[in-house]
Amino acid sequence: MKNRLERVKERIKETAIACNRPVKSIRLVAVSKTMPAEVVREAIEAGVTDLGENYIQEAKEKVHALATYPATWHFIGHLQSNKAKYAVRLFDLIHSVDSLKLAKELDKFAGKIDKIQSILIQVNVAREDSKSGVYVEGTVQLLREISRLENISVKGLMTMPPYFNAPEKVRPFFAALRELRDQIIKEAIPNVSMDELSMGMTGDFEAAIEEGATMVRIGTAIFGGRR
Ligand SMILES: *Cc1c(COP(=O)(O)O)cnc(C)c1O
Repeated sequence: MKNRLERVKERIKETAIACNRPVKSIRLVAVSKTMPAEVVREAIEAGVTDLGENYIQEAKEKVHALATYPATWHFIGHLQSNKAKYAVRLFDLIHSVDSLKLAKELDKFAGKIDKIQSILIQVNVAREDSKSGVYVEGTVQLLREISRLENISVKGLMTMPPYFNAPEKVRPFFAALRELRDQIIKEAIPNVSMDELSMGMTGDFEAAIEEGATMVRIGTAIFGGRR
């Protein structure tokens, strides 16, 4: 795993250099879903600082088992409003907020523990029925509503493009997310920052970096195949 991790870091670095971006402007989120705590611990010891999880129950066990390690935890899966309470306790950044209802629940539980919860807005750029996320044209309105919530801090956008197994086919969706980000910046919505673009996975992270990703979410290339 250490070798695979080093290789991924090397590829991130090479891509950043090739497109004139500072290597440090790209954060590697190691997606550890389905991996046991032991494996996650190895990853942290090998230098992983950020971990991505998709399921609350599974993440809870790992976050607690690894509480003494200095890791940043990202929630990247679909989040149901009735799990908001746990998500707020466990995660530093929630990438997958796509409704006011969910944001309000997160705001409520964050308030109860005196936390400002950082979130990203998940955008369904390709308008796929099977995917979560707000449509591009609904994003500004959603942001205006969420920006009024006191215990929520929006940091940017996330997307999961259609899987084509061909980075050049997903590139337009990454570019569209970046363009949406630029448009939102012009709206200057109070309490909303657009520093982060979470996009790119094992099959397409180089294209995502070229299109402006600040966070790449990589599982398979680091941990190997999932069961
Ligand atoms: C599983 C997952 C990833 C990582 O996928 P890999 O192809 O294994 O790198 C990234 N983002 C989300 C939202 C995921 O669910």
